[in-house]
Amino acid sequence: MPLFAAFDACDGRSWRDYDSCVPVYEFRCASCGERFDDLVPVGTASATCPKCGVAEAERVLSAQAAQQRLVRSQGDARKQERKNAQTHARAKADFSARRRAVDRARRDSGGGS
Ligand SMILES: [Zn+2]
Repeated sequence: MPLFAAFDACDGRSWRDYDSCVPVYEFRCASCGERFDDLVPVGTASATCPKCGVAEAERVLSAQAAQQRLVRSQGDARKQERKNAQTHARAKADFSARRRAVDRARRDSGGGS
C-alpha cells in the first residue's frame, strides 16, 4: 500500500521534513487518461488511478518542470507559481488528513507500543 510505504520512507526523519522524502509526483492513467498528483515515496514509477482504479497510472517524468520553463511572461510565471503552491498545499492537507487517519487506525488496532 503506497500510503504506508510513504511513511516508511520517512522513518527516522522529522515529520516537518516530509516534503523532502515524499514528493508530489504527477501521474497519468494509461487506461482513462486521468492526470493526478500523488504523494509517493521517492522513485515510485506508478500509482493507482483515483478515477478508474487501474494501477497502471504512469509517472509523468519531468513534463511539469518542462512546462514551467516554457512560461513566457512574468504574469504567467506568477500564475503558475500560485497554481503550484495551491496544488502543493492541497496535497499537503490531504496527506496530513491521511496521516491522522492512519495514526487513528493504528491506535484503534492497539498494535503500537
Ligand atoms: Zn484511470
